[in-house]
Amino acid sequence: MDANQFRAAAHAAIDQVIDYYENISDHRVVSNVAPGYLRQLLPTEIPENGEPWDDIQKDITEKIIPGITHWQSPNFLAFFPANSTYPGILGELYSAAFTSANFNWLCSPAATELETIVLDWLCQLISLPPAYLSSSPSGGGGVIQGSASEAIVTVVVAARDRALRALSAGITDEAEKERFVDATRGKLVALCSDQSHSSTQKGCLIAGTKYRAVKVQRDLSNQNFGLKASTLRLALEAATAEGLVPFYTTVTLGTTSTCAVDDFAEIAQVAKDYPNLWIHVDAAYAGAALVCPEYKHLIAGVEAFDSFNVNMHKWLLTNFDCSCLFVKERKHLLNALSITPSYLRNEFSEKGLVTDYRDWQIPLGRRFRALKAWFVMRTYGAEGLRKHIRNCVAVGTGFYERVKARPDLFTIFTPPAFGLTVFTVNVERQGLKGRNEVTKEVYESVNADGEVFITSTVVDGNYAIRIVSGNPRIEDKHLARAFDIIVAKTEEVKKRDAH
Ligand code: PLP
Repeated sequence: MDANQFRAAAHAAIDQVIDYYENISDHRVVSNVAPGYLRQLLPTEIPENGEPWDDIQKDITEKIIPGITHWQSPNFLAFFPANSTYPGILGELYSAAFTSANFNWLCSPAATELETIVLDWLCQLISLPPAYLSSSPSGGGGVIQGSASEAIVTVVVAARDRALRALSAGITDEAEKERFVDATRGKLVALCSDQSHSSTQKGCLIAGTKYRAVKVQRDLSNQNFGLKASTLRLALEAATAEGLVPFYTTVTLGTTSTCAVDDFAEIAQVAKDYPNLWIHVDAAYAGAALVCPEYKHLIAGVEAFDSFNVNMHKWLLTNFDCSCLFVKERKHLLNALSITPSYLRNEFSEKGLVTDYRDWQIPLGRRFRALKAWFVMRTYGAEGLRKHIRNCVAVGTGFYERVKARPDLFTIFTPPAFGLTVFTVNVERQGLKGRNEVTKEVYESVNADGEVFITSTVVDGNYAIRIVSGNPRIEDKHLARAFDIIVAKTEEVKKRDAH
């Protein structure tokens, strides 16, 4: 493809993308192709001769779009959102144009420096304490990772390394130190709420440490499933009594199932008694709400913790992938992850003048992701981001009100939080089992219809439906329609049940 062909193809592609977004609600939100559909439609081998863009683009419409689940549709109410916006797409375009591996500052100084600047902007915007800024005396700072899971495995490794260094600090004999570290590594245990995302368990699997999920009961003061400090303290004491060494905890702002918030302020007090315990805040989805001052009280105590992640690619208008990880002391990442073979040496790094983000992450190479975050922040401004969050929450609250107004059909399971409503279906059949079965039947029949896409969860033995309104294009009319569909399906299932 030469420059002229690229110009024509790119214009055609942009036109197609705009048309796609303009008409996105016309699509069935969940793809209903059969597994293996694409193999039937594509040749088994690479074409011998190159093909014109027109033919390739035609296949986007005919063969790819039928297999797309339309996450950008306002009828997509499932999981958590993956926001996309035009400035985010432009960031991806330029990032692709400049393609570079960016592991060291020298690989593209702008890529590293923009990332540091943009993450400092975000740090201030979401009111993280100044210790998380790149200029902090503690040596903090932010880095963009591909996903929250990647951020979490990175900090689990740093936490493991920090704990082992601290515990073995007094041993001077190298052989003895090695024996001690080897023996202690097997005793390290991460303790997390059973509501924390599975990425922490996966991180511990990769890091080779133990992982224990702590059962969380419904907190009667707020009716949600946040981790209380007293529960964590008991688990820490029990693990220690068993001879294990607690080294890591994920606390969550906005759990995946019900958007519960752990009790940060009280947990910060517990942290004081466990100096080797690395506490990470997983705010993958709900952290976006911190752009609005009305949510800032939720992170009281966060200055006592060690790291924090929020996915701009979930609810902050930035295209996947853009998971922002902040640490209070970057030296722990460097201690755990920095290896410098001769081919990576350069005078700027050697003199300590620059940041080399390869030492803050698992992979070596990295994309120029800061561009899209920068474009989004500049295009919307802080006020535009606040407006987006408040709109999603207002629309979500409208949905919650509708559910609450039909106690004959539904029971609210947890209070509305960050645009999420979680509810169950009321039943004539007795007991939890009956309610779970009927709620599942309603959930499945709504999704089988395909006009809206929703997800479900199981918390404390309860099967519940989750509706998330985090899409930048969402309006009350979309959730009004979703509600009507859910009511109709519920009535249908209940009628079927009665016979
Ligand atoms: N943490 C929480 C609270 C989540 O809800 C999710 C995914 O929804 C994750 C972590 C994992 O996110 P990622 O896909 O960026 O790894």
